[in-house]
Amino acid sequence: MSALITREMLSAYLDDALAEADIAQIEQELRGSQPLRQQLAALMQERDRGEHSVGAIWRRQRLSCPAREQLGSYLLGVLDDDVQDYVQFHLQTIGCAYCMANLADMQTQQQDADGQVKKRRKRYYQSSAGLLQSPDKKKKS
Ligand SMILES: [Zn+2]
Repeated sequence: MSALITREMLSAYLDDALAEADIAQIEQELRGSQPLRQQLAALMQERDRGEHSVGAIWRRQRLSCPAREQLGSYLLGVLDDDVQDYVQFHLQTIGCAYCMANLADMQTQQQDADGQVKKRRKRYYQSSAGLLQSPDKKKKS
């Protein structure tokens, strides 16, 4: 557990009641500390059982969101383990709707890009095949 971040601070963090400097510090600690992430997840679960859901707070809490490039790298699985863990935590434990939407959008784009490459390859292949055909054969069509 981090010596720097108290349970009260995490609680205030979830309440969106901290100064930006404190938020930044907590988020930096969260990225680097698996136990702290677990502590935060546990705290969120406790609160979810209570009266108010934290989900809405997190949905407008964009500061903790990884950058779009990081999400892209996450998709490719090329992030450092710590960051990969953090993004996974952010998506799966926190279930950030904003980042999930972002991620889905990128997946679609990636699939589109894959499709384009395949189409280009096919076209290239067809035109190459055309070049290889003898003039006789071409007349037939
Ligand atoms: Zn997010």
